[in-house]
Amino acid sequence: MPEPTTSEGQAIRARLVRRRIDRDVLSVLDSPIFWDDGRDYTLFDTIRSLRFSSEEGVPFAEIVDIVEEELTERQLSREKQKKVFTILGWYFECPRCAKDRTADKFEDTQFYLWTSTERAEPILQSSGPCIPCQQQPDADEFEIRNEYYTW
Ligand SMILES: [Zn+2]
Repeated sequence: MPEPTTSEGQAIRARLVRRRIDRDVLSVLDSPIFWDDGRDYTLFDTIRSLRFSSEEGVPFAEIVDIVEEELTERQLSREKQKKVFTILGWYFECPRCAKDRTADKFEDTQFYLWTSTERAEPILQSSGPCIPCQQQPDADEFEIRNEYYTW
């Protein structure tokens, strides 16, 4: 099993193991990341790491592709996928308010990861509205009413 290389990555992994992190979630996060500095990294090393979001590091799109492959291969449930994304600290766009929020700010939603060779930055989206949007059940109705008055 590959181990995180950075002390930050090791500390995050140790803390989650102590909290009895789900085995499937752990195995996705243990996925190796290849970088040409000759050291072996895992997804844990990418968490809050500038090294993996800077231009000299591994492009974010590559990391997203690795995660997507693992999630598909292991057929993780929506809840477990959400855990993976929450730990990674990734932001997803809400289809209603268009704000970028972490995965734990969504409920009963499917997360989509889009990468493309023509686009440098991947697009991360949620299928459903974020929790703050869901807590405003009148939002849609309000929009309709506003439309009516602008007639
Ligand atoms: Zn929202």
